[in-house]
Amino acid sequence: MLTQAPRGTKDVLPEESGRWQAVEAVCRDIAARSGYREVRTPVIEHTELFLRGVGDTTDIVQKEMYTFDDKGGRSITLKPEGTAGTVRALIEHSLYAGPLPVKMYYLNAPIFRYEAPQSGRFREHHQFGIEAFGAAEPTCDAEVILTALRVLSGVGFQNLVVSINSIGCPACRKAYHEALRAFLKEKLSSLCVTCNGRFERNPMRILDCKVESCQSQLAGAPEMLDFLCDGCRAHFEGLKEALGALNVPFTIDPRIVRGLDYYTRTVFEVLMQTETGTLAVCAGGRYDGLVEQLGGPSLPGIGFGMGLERVLMLLAQEGVILPDARLFDVYVASLGKDARLPALKLAQALRDAGVKAEMDHAARSLKAQFKSADKLSVSLVAIVGGDELARGTVRLRNMQTKEEKEIPLEEAVKAIEGSIKHA
Ligand code: ATP
Ligand code: MG
Repeated sequence: MLTQAPRGTKDVLPEESGRWQAVEAVCRDIAARSGYREVRTPVIEHTELFLRGVGDTTDIVQKEMYTFDDKGGRSITLKPEGTAGTVRALIEHSLYAGPLPVKMYYLNAPIFRYEAPQSGRFREHHQFGIEAFGAAEPTCDAEVILTALRVLSGVGFQNLVVSINSIGCPACRKAYHEALRAFLKEKLSSLCVTCNGRFERNPMRILDCKVESCQSQLAGAPEMLDFLCDGCRAHFEGLKEALGALNVPFTIDPRIVRGLDYYTRTVFEVLMQTETGTLAVCAGGRYDGLVEQLGGPSLPGIGFGMGLERVLMLLAQEGVILPDARLFDVYVASLGKDARLPALKLAQALRDAGVKAEMDHAARSLKAQFKSADKLSVSLVAIVGGDELARGTVRLRNMQTKEEKEIPLEEAVKAIEGSIKHA
């Protein structure tokens, strides 16, 4: 117990964090190119925010939230997704009063869901996500989808599939809900308890149910796309046209839903084919009613959330090597007691000059120190000690060519800096 992380959580160890940072750097770079700036919201929020912002007919709210009463008796929930907190911050700080659209991203945000842990599914995971508020036009939807794709291709993915759908607006969804209820009515006894609960309040969510026996009832179900009003249809056509203009291949998947009244029009997923089936790395959509629903002005919004564990897992499966920063450039080896302080001074002077330097603290043999240097894959070892010290010099050993040269100690930092730049 004591030495085991809670079920469904995992450590990112020092040897893996370089890969995370490489992905994060791509996220930041791509987001910044379209004017998204980072927002950092608390890990905890009032439970009410998610009941209203995510919706109480979703799996997240019905089954997956980590909710508790704090010592003051308030109901608090660990963030189960990134959008609601971002919208809360937008409203609380009146960010919509400035120029529109307001563009924000969150990175490495810890997300908590009480799920059955399995491959690619954790109880704590981390998301990169972007949100754009104040632009209703489909070109903005295309921009958001492109941002997801550029991040994913930027980290090294190739065969990405974008699936899009439109779930209309509250006006045209009414007729669709009626048609869906009529279709499902006879099948209610075969649907799970949760879906029975959704039937009256939000039948569209049944399309998203993970239970096999529910899925098998859905063949031939009516599709929202056939019920879109003129405005929603034109918006969907606009999105398809924009993606076409950007040469983005996409498929239309009528089963993708964000089944809440304040989610509107565009929904999308970016999928990866894996050995065990397809896995969504990124999911997003438009939520033109959400800001108002949470007490703000009427302001359209669209965004996505990308699961970073899935991104890293799939990259490993695809054999994509991320640039992993070298831990050290140079190893300062020392010989004898008198060399300890000069070695420490040299190592620190190198670090101050921006060179990644390690040294021996344990007075080990030169052979043992070379071994360490080898393990750390440094390109250079600086040897301080013995005769060199007496002459005021240091010996530099190129670990690749095994060549050595002796240089004055006071020139060592400059010389090492120079040879590392050329390595
Ligand atoms: P699913 O249908 O697979 O449960 P979801 O609809 O719950 O997905 P979203 O809420 O849209 O997923 O989350 C956005 C992204 O976050 C997903 O596409 C996925 O990459 C990632 N994600 C979601 N849940 C988990 C989890 N439990 N562990 C790891 N990553 C997750
Ligand atoms: Mg889920």
